[in-house]
Amino acid sequence: MDNCIFCKIANKEIPGNIVYENEDIIAFNDINPQAPVHILVIPKKHIESLNELADKNLAGELLDSVREICKKLNIKDYRTVINTGKEAGQEVFHIHLHILSGRPLKWPPG
Ligand code: AMP
Ligand code: ZN
Repeated sequence: MDNCIFCKIANKEIPGNIVYENEDIIAFNDINPQAPVHILVIPKKHIESLNELADKNLAGELLDSVREICKKLNIKDYRTVINTGKEAGQEVFHIHLHILSGRPLKWPPG
């Protein structure tokens, strides 16, 4: 989609620090990391948020890719986050799953 920064990264129109890629999914380092490991996992297809993710196959692929990324990068303990909607902290309206790791993470997050 035009003007979507994550579509541009997926299409390689702007550089991303890509850590994983398959036909439907791409993962790259967050530009403003909140932990020593902070990866964003996105479908290449533009889908605004979890509320629009109606494709079960793609939803499964998103989680499968998390497992593969963590295995590949030897990430053992980690937190996954999907912010949905402005009030929940979503700033980029192309669905993305955060993987955070490399430091103790409090719960509840606040
Ligand atoms: P969210 O608040 O859940 O929408 O998360 C958006 C995330 O995207 C934030 O953690 C940003 O630091 C990150 N971000 C924004 N622009 C870029 C970019 N060009 N490359 C990598 N990460 C980005
Ligand atoms: Zn997009």
